Amino acid sequence: MTDKNKIASWGGNQSFAESLLQHLAVAAFVIDANHQVIFWNRACEKLTGLKAEEVIGTSNHWRGFYPDNRPCLADLVLDNHFSEGAELYSKTKLMSEIDGFAAENWCTSADGVKRFLEFEAGAICNDAGEITAVIECLRDRTKQKESEKLITEMAFYDSLTGLPNRRLLIERLKEEISLTNRQGNTGALIFLDLDNFKTINDSLGHDVGDELLIQVAQRLKQATRETDMVARLGGDEFVIILGQLDYDMSTAARNIEKVAQTILNDINNPYEIRNHSLYTTPSIGITLFPAEDDTPGILLKQADAAMYRVKESGKNSIHFFHPAIQEAADSRMQIENELRRALRSEEFELYFQPQIDTNNQLIGAEALIRWLHPENGIIPPNEFIPIAEESGLIVEIGNWVIESACKQLARWTGDHLEVPQISINISPRQFRQSDFVSRFDHTLSRYKINPDKLVIELTEGILFDDIDDTISKMHAIRSLGVRFSLDDFGTGYSSLAYLQKLPLDHIKVDQSFVRDLDQNPNNAAIVETVINMGHNLNLSVIAEGVETEAELNFLKQKKCREFQGYYFYKPLPMEQFEELLSPNVRHSKNKSLH
Ligand code: C2E
Ligand code: CA
Ligand code: CA
Repeated sequence: MTDKNKIASWGGNQSFAESLLQHLAVAAFVIDANHQVIFWNRACEKLTGLKAEEVIGTSNHWRGFYPDNRPCLADLVLDNHFSEGAELYSKTKLMSEIDGFAAENWCTSADGVKRFLEFEAGAICNDAGEITAVIECLRDRTKQKESEKLITEMAFYDSLTGLPNRRLLIERLKEEISLTNRQGNTGALIFLDLDNFKTINDSLGHDVGDELLIQVAQRLKQATRETDMVARLGGDEFVIILGQLDYDMSTAARNIEKVAQTILNDINNPYEIRNHSLYTTPSIGITLFPAEDDTPGILLKQADAAMYRVKESGKNSIHFFHPAIQEAADSRMQIENELRRALRSEEFELYFQPQIDTNNQLIGAEALIRWLHPENGIIPPNEFIPIAEESGLIVEIGNWVIESACKQLARWTGDHLEVPQISINISPRQFRQSDFVSRFDHTLSRYKINPDKLVIELTEGILFDDIDDTISKMHAIRSLGVRFSLDDFGTGYSSLAYLQKLPLDHIKVDQSFVRDLDQNPNNAAIVETVINMGHNLNLSVIAEGVETEAELNFLKQKKCREFQGYYFYKPLPMEQFEELLSPNVRHSKNKSLH
């Protein structure tokens, strides 16, 4: 026993009690009624790294457990402040009136060591029942805690890849199902199975097989969001939960298809394993939720069944469980593939729809793309432009449109024909390309185009993203001499403030407002407002989709002076449009071609 440990108020045989505590294997210390340390045993020195002489007579005992000054369990017992215990410890409990309180928590002591400690503190009272001291005992449970963690990990995670296992997947899937049910959005379950794993495993050995699974796991993690879950069911089967997707199921399905396509491509890339260059492909089945009576078991079966369809029909592909979604995906994929072919074999053509003024003069034409499909005939743009936009093919198609329009303009000029302004449609995705302006400029110079003859039609979609970039690109093109028209005006959400910032020359009243103008008072009011607004902004206003004389008369009455629509002409193939290109042709109803 050392005389630095003085337990002054200890009743009975003081030195015996001190000696007893000193020799205990369990770390213990005692504070008096003023929070001053009066005893600190050797085990406590060992556990906390603090020597008894550093703390005896001070109230610094917290340094043994925390980097900042905060009360220890003994202090809380002394002050009767147990409500604080819940904040400071992960678990606190009253053992009994006599034994006092127990708590546990991760602690980082002043010397920087992190330990999981179990604390027990009990009051020592005098005969009058007043607390004269508090004793606190400490146990280091770090090893036990870590092995507990390992056991949970083993129960919920796959030891080879570190991915969640089936158990954790099912827990999470339950949560996602109820979340999507509550919020009304969509989730997806993707089932992925490698196509030739068994061959690789059997021929190159399990070590190579294991390494391949680890790399596949990494690629799957990379292809998905932090919030998605990639799990390994066992063997070469992986499952991915994509949560919180679009409210509209078919929009969600298109996004999922993109993710699945990325996964498919990533898994197809070569693997370098122990001097082997390996290839593998996946079969991917997808199901969507929520649907009635969804359970994790049902969804897993659906995704598995969809995956099996891929195996049956040649592997290395994607299949949706729901037939309608699969059909839509099939036709999109087919159109996308055919579009690539169409670009190579030049199956596109530009039609030209004349634009007419109040004197029946031809003042311009809109170039509209047509796809002359070798088997299916003419496919209108509404059936392929949206797919081209999604797949990014629109950029190449758009380049073709610019190129063809310029080529045509140059030809007509060479043939000494009076050429009106030609409008071309540019999709937002193409306009956002960083080299759009320079490419466009380059094409104009290549064909020596008079920029006065070109108008670019943009939709309000251009305003959704990076508006500053849009404005600066528009100015750059405007300074080349090319003009802008805002297409489908009134269908988007553009504010007047934005419109004023854009270097526009024309707005096109959307055809949905022109329809039944003379009979539909709502449309009439909108059209009148748009015409006035355009004129106030000094823009020329062209009405498209004019089909009847009544619509035309209404528009004229409201001071609209430019028109495009079936009443005058449908979009015409180049040769027919060319017939209109002589200086003195009058474009009256009698001469229109339909
Ligand atoms: P848009 O730019 O609004 O083109 C006008 C559409 O209205 C054209 O359909 C045209 O044929 C049609 N139209 C014109 N007058 C009338 C009419 O009086 N009644 C009716 N019912 N329709 C009329 P189209 O050619 O099928 O084009 C549809 C859409 O496809 C275009 O709408 C445009 O958004 C897109 N598109 C067409 N060509 C291109 C292109 O070269 N590039 C891009 N990015 N998109 C294009
Ligand atoms: Ca247009
Ligand atoms: Ca339009």
